[in-house]
Amino acid sequence: MNELTSAREREAPSARAHIGGGLRAGLRLLLDVALPPLCPSCREPLGGGAGLCAACWSKLSLIEPPYCARLGIPFTYDPGPGLLSMEAIANPPSYDRARAAVRYDDIARALVHRFKYGDRLDLAPMMGRWMARAGRELLEGADALIPVPLHWRRLWARRFNQSAALAGGISMLAGPPVLHGAVQRVRATPQQVGLSKSERAENVQGAFKVDPARKAEIAGKRLVVVDDVLTSGATTEACARALLRAGAGHVDVLVFARVVAPVRTPI
Ligand SMILES: [Zn+2]
Repeated sequence: MNELTSAREREAPSARAHIGGGLRAGLRLLLDVALPPLCPSCREPLGGGAGLCAACWSKLSLIEPPYCARLGIPFTYDPGPGLLSMEAIANPPSYDRARAAVRYDDIARALVHRFKYGDRLDLAPMMGRWMARAGRELLEGADALIPVPLHWRRLWARRFNQSAALAGGISMLAGPPVLHGAVQRVRATPQQVGLSKSERAENVQGAFKVDPARKAEIAGKRLVVVDDVLTSGATTEACARALLRAGAGHVDVLVFARVVAPVRTPI
């Protein structure tokens, strides 16, 4: 049995956790009693437990080596250790390495959507577990996890920061503490959806700032920026730049899902 198979078998029957507090939690509980829990991706009833149904789980596209040593973009064949993708050479990011648990395909999109907009905070430990596995080498020796912050207005509307919830799940398994509030989103930016790569970069330019009072917690530290989805990389890049400007010693990026073009070959 390979590692992937055993990981799938371990994850499928994961325990269900409830969102805490408030009227919505009460309603969720009532609904759970009245209705069987549904797969967050296909909405089919789950036989028991939570997480994905067996069919969606088997279709989920985990990102495994071989991949670009820098960006974690999967390769179609193994070119040997340390090889970089064309993207990493042509347009190197300011952070050191990026890793993602899964490809951002239909299953991952549905999962992220339920998690983020459907109040499914209970999915965070499962998603965090996959991220901890994908980011093992980044998390070894990391001093802290930095969730990509939301602007306070969006946080107020959404009621939770999905990146902070994922970072919490990773921290419980892998150890590094989550540094909340050290980086702030000082500018409210429109959603990145529908923007081109250059528009995305422009949109988040100057959006993040390290709280001057928290600089000592950043300076010289090995940090891992945590986010839910990496599309163009503009958001994580802007966040990493803010950390490096504040004196961070080393910055890596760990996301749940990343957009991957169909064919990637190393050069
Ligand atoms: Zn399903």
